Amino acid sequence: MKTFEELGVAPQILRAISEMGYESPMPVQEEVIPYLLGNNNEVIALAQTGTGKTAAFGLPILQQINVNQVQPQAVILCPTRELCLQIADDLNDYSKYMDKLKVLPVYGGSSIESQIRALKRGVHIVVATPGRLIDLINRKTVDLRLVRDVILDEADEMLNMGFSESIDEILSHVPETRNMLLFSATMPAEIARITKKYMHNPHEIVIGRKNEGAKNVRHIYYMVNAKDKYLVLKRLADYNPHIYGIIFCRTRKETQEIADALVKDGYSADSLHGDLSQAQRDYVMQRFRLRNIRLLVATDVAARGLDVDDLSHIINYGLPDDAESYTHRSGRTGRAGKTGTSIAIVHLKEKHKIREIEKNINKKFEQGVIPSGKEICEKQLFGFADQLEKVKVNEEEIQGIMPAIYRRLDWLDKEDIIKRLISLEFNRLIDYYQDAGDIEAPQERKANEKGNREKRGRERTNTGQATGRNSERGYARLFINLGKTDGLGPQNVIGLLNDNIPGRKIMVGRIDLMKNFSFFEVKESDRDRVIQYLDGTKAFGRRIAVEQAQESPFEDRKKNTEPGNRKKKDKRRK
Ligand code: AMP
Repeated sequence: MKTFEELGVAPQILRAISEMGYESPMPVQEEVIPYLLGNNNEVIALAQTGTGKTAAFGLPILQQINVNQVQPQAVILCPTRELCLQIADDLNDYSKYMDKLKVLPVYGGSSIESQIRALKRGVHIVVATPGRLIDLINRKTVDLRLVRDVILDEADEMLNMGFSESIDEILSHVPETRNMLLFSATMPAEIARITKKYMHNPHEIVIGRKNEGAKNVRHIYYMVNAKDKYLVLKRLADYNPHIYGIIFCRTRKETQEIADALVKDGYSADSLHGDLSQAQRDYVMQRFRLRNIRLLVATDVAARGLDVDDLSHIINYGLPDDAESYTHRSGRTGRAGKTGTSIAIVHLKEKHKIREIEKNINKKFEQGVIPSGKEICEKQLFGFADQLEKVKVNEEEIQGIMPAIYRRLDWLDKEDIIKRLISLEFNRLIDYYQDAGDIEAPQERKANEKGNREKRGRERTNTGQATGRNSERGYARLFINLGKTDGLGPQNVIGLLNDNIPGRKIMVGRIDLMKNFSFFEVKESDRDRVIQYLDGTKAFGRRIAVEQAQESPFEDRKKNTEPGNRKKKDKRRK
């Protein structure tokens, strides 16, 4: 198999695709890329979505654009607005390092004026649904005289949708000498007509059904200290803004605890396990199918009744005992022509299981690097920019109110408005990550050291979150003399802070509830304020005590901070 470099892909594109995780070309790319980079030839490819066809035509097209000539040089026609946006997105990703290159998606159902303005500013590649492009051609707002390549993507689907005449018309506006590339999942007679009429001696290729089984699934494992498993889960969810997946846990209890912790931390999550009634399970599954829940935390058995085709991720919160179960789990993503990712959050003891599973799935795992806070924030911000671009604007519904809104915001310029939108959405996330250091990967050698036995002893948790350990960087860990026997729950801790501390809202980190006392984390900068206002107030029918917990091993902390010891300490203070 050749590398992208050997296929002739240019360095700045190589850099972008390698950052996207494209390691080696898919079959359609191996055939099409060198061909198109060669003599500007034409191609008919029988290939479905999921085969990698966008990069197959996208990379050579991008590479041959003359960025100094700011006029459309390639037109990509596709049947739907979604595909149009997806192709434009992919091309933008591939051309991340090609300065000045502009790709514009144009599609119906969205303001034509803003598309016209973008065309006026100048673009190199237009990705369009046929109806909207004709509209733009008729308004003389798009000039196709310099177009070199026309791509018909999902050509059979466009014909099914009745775009045959529109395609004819569009082709009459581009130069005779243009190349045409046609991608289609099937080859009905009408396609034969188009190819005969418009193509000159095209190269035909057939790419087999690539989508069976788990071929479209990437397998990635993250090696973490057991105490960090939950934090890593959160980071991975944050790093994938469009995540829609199942998190597999081993026990019902763990399933419930992880789901509760995720909900508490503001994620759209719920649990599915055998302790729920059938009606509850149906309700959760229904909400998940409708994507009202983005993360479903489930046991293997409970998830069996759930058939959803387009999951983006499977997350193994720890590996199952047998490799077969892993195959079942990961087979739930990468279906119906989609790609998927199966993630395993594992600790050192589970490493041997990775090798076993690799044999079973006949595929290698990639070792993932836990994303840093900065990387997560960047990804989220770009995800938001992406949503902003794609949001469907209901022109009719809002037109009445818009003039007043424009007047109100008139004093803000475009940059200000964007900054404010982003701040509205992301201040909490940015605050959370700005002080959170990196999560360290475990050191393999240390796993065998004696001292680690003690560490493992500390890794039992009630939420999968850490108990009695040092706080995350940037956070202070506080002791409170209320525990589960007092009826204290995570929401009460948050309630106590909100009710008693005036001014700026306190961000709460990890909460560990013990029987008679608890620990919770707040930002370092809030520590003194929290102690000042909470220590000595009355709640749950008694006077509460709050103080800095010691950043020491669990056993030591227990000794130092158990109520019995605290009393002695308090007495000494008096
Ligand atoms: P497509 O058929 O163009 O929709 O591509 C299907 C999926 O495969 C997309 O998510 C692409 O990002 C991904 N993909 C395309 N080419 C490669 C590659 N060479 N290596 C890994 N993933 C790829």
